[in-house]
Amino acid sequence: VDGLIKHFDLGGHFLQRERPTVKAINDVSLGIRRGEAFCLVGESGCGKSTLARIVMGLLDPTGGAIRFDGTRIDGLKHTARKPFHRRMQMIFQNPYASLNPRRTVQKTLEEPLRFHFPNLSDADVKTKVEQVMVSVGNDPSWGTRYPHEFSGGQRQRISIARALMVDPDFVVADEPISALDVSIQAQVLNVMMDTQEARDLTYLFITHDLSVVRHFGTRVGVMYLGTLCELADTATLFENPRHPYTRILLSAIPRISTEEMKPPGLPGEVPSAMNLPSGCVFHDRCPLANARCSAEVPRAQCQADGTLVACHAVEEGRG
Ligand code: SF4
Ligand code: MG
Repeated sequence: VDGLIKHFDLGGHFLQRERPTVKAINDVSLGIRRGEAFCLVGESGCGKSTLARIVMGLLDPTGGAIRFDGTRIDGLKHTARKPFHRRMQMIFQNPYASLNPRRTVQKTLEEPLRFHFPNLSDADVKTKVEQVMVSVGNDPSWGTRYPHEFSGGQRQRISIARALMVDPDFVVADEPISALDVSIQAQVLNVMMDTQEARDLTYLFITHDLSVVRHFGTRVGVMYLGTLCELADTATLFENPRHPYTRILLSAIPRISTEEMKPPGLPGEVPSAMNLPSGCVFHDRCPLANARCSAEVPRAQCQADGTLVACHAVEEGRG
């Protein structure tokens, strides 16, 4: 993800000097390494889901580039995109909405397989569906049944199975457990971890739940209002958070796990992405802000341990 920008034009009147624009992502760069579980965290509205959708080709960026294994993939049209389409799969937040209610489990799981491997025999397709169902802890005999017959956790495991049908290399999961009962969240997360191990998958895992990050993440990117504040190894981030926003998030862990992340102890509300603060977008809520912060956008700088931090105070050694 290289210099990614995404602005949504909200239309408005043609005589308006400035058309209303939501600046959802503003110059975000990050690299995901093969085999890792890269977690992207931040409050709702920080741009993490938008970033995931752009990576998957479901949205076009306004600026910047997405590369997969060295190939630029943003803006690729259908045929050119197809191989990446197979190698990159997505799991959505809500298993009640993401599975077609009129389609049997068998049909749902067969569809991507037949699309990408049209020469497979019916017997091979059937075997593959059964294998994948078993690998996510589902009963292979569920094929003739419909999504409404299953619990949230079972449905999300069907969604995971659907993503795995075509043997992807890279899976983007956008809040895959946050719509589920707390009692089954760990179980679904464990299925995802086991699957990663067994299939050598790379994950981009979007979440607002820091306990999930700690349990699951190799590295973490922290987003606030469309910018990347900090990017670090998971252990480093929890031991030594540098960015003021990350510090406030981490201090809030015990109080935020299932609700949308709203860190306590932060003054005011997240500003509107239609009217971004000048300089550092965090400046009007940051305890370390000074005059430079409201004038100059902080650039991500690499620390000695490889952590990236975008903050003037960290650069100046304050705080
Ligand atoms: Fe706070 Fe300034 Fe750092 Fe932004 S750049 S996080 S306002 S200290
Ligand atoms: Mg979201």
